[in-house]
Amino acid sequence: MTEFTLDLNEDQKQVRDWLNGFAKDVMRPAAAEWDEREETPWPVIQEAAKLGIYSLDFYAQQFFDPTGLGIPMAMEELFWGDAGIALSIVGTGLAAVGVLANGTEEQIGTWIPQMYGDANDVKVAAFCSSEPDAGSDVASMRTRAVYDEAKDEWVLNGTKTWATNGGIAGVHVVVAVVDPELGSKGHASFIVPPNTPGLSQGQKFKKHGIRASHTAEVVLEDVRVPGGCLLGGKEKLDERLARARERAKAGGGERVKNAAMATFEASRPAVGAMAVGTARAAYEVALDYATTREQFGRPIIDNQGIAFQLADMRTRIDAARLLVWRASWMATTGKPFTSAEGSMSKLFASETAKQVTAQAIQILGGNGFTREYPVERMHRDAAIYTIFEGTSEIQRLVIARTLSGMPIR
Ligand SMILES: Cc1cc2nc3c(=O)[nH]c(=O)nc-3n(C[C@H](O)[C@H](O)[C@H](O)COP(=O)(O)OP(=O)(O)OC[C@H]3O[C@@H](n4cnc5c(N)ncnc54)[C@H](O)[C@@H]3O)c2cc1C
Repeated sequence: MTEFTLDLNEDQKQVRDWLNGFAKDVMRPAAAEWDEREETPWPVIQEAAKLGIYSLDFYAQQFFDPTGLGIPMAMEELFWGDAGIALSIVGTGLAAVGVLANGTEEQIGTWIPQMYGDANDVKVAAFCSSEPDAGSDVASMRTRAVYDEAKDEWVLNGTKTWATNGGIAGVHVVVAVVDPELGSKGHASFIVPPNTPGLSQGQKFKKHGIRASHTAEVVLEDVRVPGGCLLGGKEKLDERLARARERAKAGGGERVKNAAMATFEASRPAVGAMAVGTARAAYEVALDYATTREQFGRPIIDNQGIAFQLADMRTRIDAARLLVWRASWMATTGKPFTSAEGSMSKLFASETAKQVTAQAIQILGGNGFTREYPVERMHRDAAIYTIFEGTSEIQRLVIARTLSGMPIR
């Protein structure tokens, strides 16, 4: 097993510096413009694709890095560049993880490459789990998938919401109910291939932050997909449902992971790393400003009130990174999250990003409150980390339940 280490190896350092260069030279100069436009920054994604930063190969390399640090390191650098643009670049990854977590080898090989397209014809993908009445409460999901045995097709109906890249994606991964009696244990994930009739984009949301990332409803009306689009296959689904029915009859018992949860668990430390990137970016702006801005004849960092804030900001950021790296290392080396370490990393890093970006605004004073300086955007962007892929309250529930073994509500 790979030992946990805080030392990046030479290859990792090279990748980090390469991503940092892209973040600094390409993403940052474009950040304010795409935030104002509230549109997917296709030219930046295309540039990333040309350089190999938006590609299956690149993410596969980071994902399978045996130290576990490849993904968090990459996320931190890209989100240090700009969160909205970075989410447009890495949003496809959530759909890819949905397939990796639940799909067969054949499905992984067929669909994940199509999610990215290639440098000449860039595509994005979407992962659709949330619904208007099923956010934190995933078990309330209503989107229904019914098997048409005669045609070996699944028929999907329902409305998904908050889908990153929803409607503009080629491949959509959709979580749907296959057995309503089983609650969240009766869910399964499906591939909806590009241009499938019946799938359309609903409302596109105007957002508080990460405005360069497209977020929209996805409407499914009699969407028919081939039997082979059920992730994991019918045999495995039937076995899983039979086990869940047995357990339900026996009065509950062992927890069975549902399709969406498997995706979210794997992606939580990665979201923590995104938050670390945004927090670090805001902290650096604040540190620089505090050492150059003078009031009362001296730099404002000369005041303990400012200097101590910066000390706390940096300490929290480093602590958040350590939690994220630990969780990523554990996930990669197959150590179970017995104390909900994945949730801990996401909770602490996302709360850190919100706090640190707010402190950065305060340190920049009036300038911090304007769009002339980036910390205002970073603070708006940071608000998403405590909401998506499980709110902070849900992370606390997961941690408390894991630690206590009690069904805390
Ligand atoms: C920009 C953006 C992008 C997104 N991208 C995707 C995506 O690509 N795919 C996807 O499927 N989803 C996506 N989401 C959805 C996201 O995961 C949900 O918004 C999130 O899970 C919260 O659900 P909700 O918004 O319905 O809030 P609710 O579940 O209604 O929660 C509202 C509040 O109540 C609290 N709360 C709820 N239940 C409890 C409880 N039991 N105990 C204590 N507090 C509780 C919550 O913590 C929150 O503070 C995205 C959301 C946004 C905003």
